Amino acid sequence: MRNNRNFCNRSENEQIWMMKNTWCDKCNAADFGLKDPIEYEENGKIIVEGKCSICSSIVLNEVLVEN
Ligand SMILES: [Zn+2]
Repeated sequence: MRNNRNFCNRSENEQIWMMKNTWCDKCNAADFGLKDPIEYEENGKIIVEGKCSICSSIVLNEVLVEN
């Protein structure tokens, strides 16, 4: 079960940070960045999903909940 969240509600700095701090399984490398980010909640985890800016495969980022 997936609940969509609005990635755009995050502050600009946070968005930039999350789009930079990525891991791509296909490139097997970190921090290539992602594009077209969307955010959702699944099984109590908050996920930001986008496409690797190098190879365009799907990149998932789990967001650690603050507080
Ligand atoms: Zn990649």
